[in-house]
Amino acid sequence: MNLPEAVSAIFRQKFGQPPAFIARAPGRVNLLGEHVDYNDGFVLPTAIDRATFVAFSPAKNDQTTLWAVDFDQQAIFSPETLEAKTGLDGAPLPDWARYPAGVMWALRQAGLETPALNAVFASNVPRGSGLSSSASVEMAFGVAWQTLGGWSLPPMELAKLGQRAENHYVGVNCGIMDQFASACGIENRLLLLDCRSLEWEALALPESVSIVVADTTVRRKLTSGEYNNRRAACEEAVRHLQTHLPGIRSLRDVSPDDFNRLSAQLPTQTEKRARHVVEEIARTQQAISLLRSGDLTGFGALMNACHVSLRDLYEVSCAELDAMVEVAQSLPGCYGARLTGAGFGGCTVNLVAREHAETFAQTLAEGYRARTGLAPEIYISKASAGAHLL
Ligand code: ADP
Ligand code: MG
Repeated sequence: MNLPEAVSAIFRQKFGQPPAFIARAPGRVNLLGEHVDYNDGFVLPTAIDRATFVAFSPAKNDQTTLWAVDFDQQAIFSPETLEAKTGLDGAPLPDWARYPAGVMWALRQAGLETPALNAVFASNVPRGSGLSSSASVEMAFGVAWQTLGGWSLPPMELAKLGQRAENHYVGVNCGIMDQFASACGIENRLLLLDCRSLEWEALALPESVSIVVADTTVRRKLTSGEYNNRRAACEEAVRHLQTHLPGIRSLRDVSPDDFNRLSAQLPTQTEKRARHVVEEIARTQQAISLLRSGDLTGFGALMNACHVSLRDLYEVSCAELDAMVEVAQSLPGCYGARLTGAGFGGCTVNLVAREHAETFAQTLAEGYRARTGLAPEIYISKASAGAHLL
């Protein structure tokens, strides 16, 4: 049984009727532009063909009942308990329920109707591995409430409200990229987002390549602290650089040449963090023209350079990610390989010639297992459509 069928069947068991609707929202993988979204940079994600599915119907009263298949848990809340982040029983909502409840909260704050619903949901986006399972949950519920609420928002607006939910309700300081990619994905396209203006466009991905996602199965630990102190280092660098470049608002405004001229006055660690960001923004811009001219070798080389920078300057890699990338880069057909997502475990993303993709995936799994003793999960992924109703 596939996932939409499974959530539908479980819905029928729990609520005694088939669901009225099923919403789907994908995870995402970022090809280039890592740790630059919160520095106003450019990112190049794509929605993947793994997704969260929500089977739902309007509820008869004002109680929203959610069943999370992957946690085998239920949560019930109402508009009255939403602000306190508790269920009807007064107990704090479980962590997983804060994502959909946060979406309801953010939508209501924006003045949008969020009729109570009964829902069963499940996902094949692995959790906490850098493929944005949280945004896929948020955007699937965004579509669910849009369907029942009788309003309609452009996908980017839904993405912004999802980010608001995650920032202010769940309490995770994420940028806009994850919700954006999950909401705005287009089949067979990469998405280019300017994180400052939020303007975006779709770029064709040549048919001759596959995106291969390789999960180290190592899960990140202690990352919110690491993430927050990297954000703080970027802000600190901007404050230092502003004494010479008063017009800058973020590292986006600093050219590599200006950075090289002024970097000596930054504290060592701050310099490394900021250098990654400045150079990564330049790499992403270069990558866009390479992609437009079909230069996959050049594009892949920038992905490889990005990994080195994340490993040595931003220091968000780990032994398993490095092993996965090194094995990948030695294999035939691999244009580029790098860690993707926040780091410290999770996944790598690989750009691979389509005719090599199957062999690449198999050989990569064997090579990684030989190096680490761990059994990885490798997916040959397709760029997929953003959140929608089935
Ligand atoms: P990711 O990088 O995968 O987005 P996060 O830590 O941001 O990792 O989000 C993971 C959290 O999102 C999970 O711990 C859970 O609370 C929620 N979540 C993700 N997928 C599901 C799911 N299938 N069912 C319920 N909650 C989920
Ligand atoms: Mg997330």
